[in-house]
Amino acid sequence: MGEYGVPEVAGQPSETRAEPFFETEASRRQVVAQLMKIGAVSLAVAIGAGASLAPLTSAAAESTSDQRRRYGMVIDTRRCVGCDACVAACKQENKTPPGVSYTIVLENGFGERPDDRPLFMTKPCFHCEHPPCVPVCPVSATFKRKQDGIVVVDYDRCIGCRYCIVACPYQARFFDFGENYPAAQEDTPWARVPSPEYGQFRGREKGKSPEGNVRKCTFCLHLQDENGAYDKAAGRWPACAKTCTGKAIHFGDFNDPESEVSVLLTQRQAIRLKEELGTEPNVYYLV
Ligand code: SF4
Ligand code: SF4
Repeated sequence: MGEYGVPEVAGQPSETRAEPFFETEASRRQVVAQLMKIGAVSLAVAIGAGASLAPLTSAAAESTSDQRRRYGMVIDTRRCVGCDACVAACKQENKTPPGVSYTIVLENGFGERPDDRPLFMTKPCFHCEHPPCVPVCPVSATFKRKQDGIVVVDYDRCIGCRYCIVACPYQARFFDFGENYPAAQEDTPWARVPSPEYGQFRGREKGKSPEGNVRKCTFCLHLQDENGAYDKAAGRWPACAKTCTGKAIHFGDFNDPESEVSVLLTQRQAIRLKEELGTEPNVYYLV
């Protein structure tokens, strides 16, 4: 397992890597040619470049088997004032470009309320227990981490096909089209500060990842320590939860019955979005 839990090769740990899918180089070439013919260009490019189909299903299937932590959020809709501080804090933390926003604030996300007060709802990735974005990825670039349930994207593997964007029922994923804010175009020093995302410290270099990749909220996992723990008192806490002016965003480990998020769920009525899909989001809304 590589740094921050990103698998080193093929989207899964080496000890569980599957045998090659194609028996011979000739059979690989045949499949690639066939895919090109039917228009599945991205998949053909990935396979041609060495990706194998076999590990994809196994990586997705085993991803939640021995999870130790289950990080998630409990968001209090009665406390959110719609200030967008979480959106700005996330941008500042992850250095996301225009068109990429790991969290957004919806107004009247649950519809109009009878007392005529607006209802705001901040919406990050829900790090679903059964994320439909994962099995659709043809190169196993996106997966749910065993150790904490965080759904991540390996930028070195992502081919930008955007299947996962279509599969996510919560519109939590964004494509990085390579746009930049004026500060980056003007090459100001602060625009050159790299994003700490995944602990990889990538700058904005034309034609290089994460340009051309799909991006999403990671619960700021680069702020975890080497044991996978966050520390609220030390400020190593997801930027949105740390910044929320209304104290509406609570973050923690649902596997710990004494965590803030677990306790809140015992005290207040909560809902999850689109429960009927069976995705089991790890973000709850207190109503
Ligand atoms: Fe995947 Fe969307 Fe669920 Fe996030 S909210 S884990 S992107 S399906
Ligand atoms: Fe996988 Fe999404 Fe990247 Fe396509 S765009 S390779 S589905 S992570």
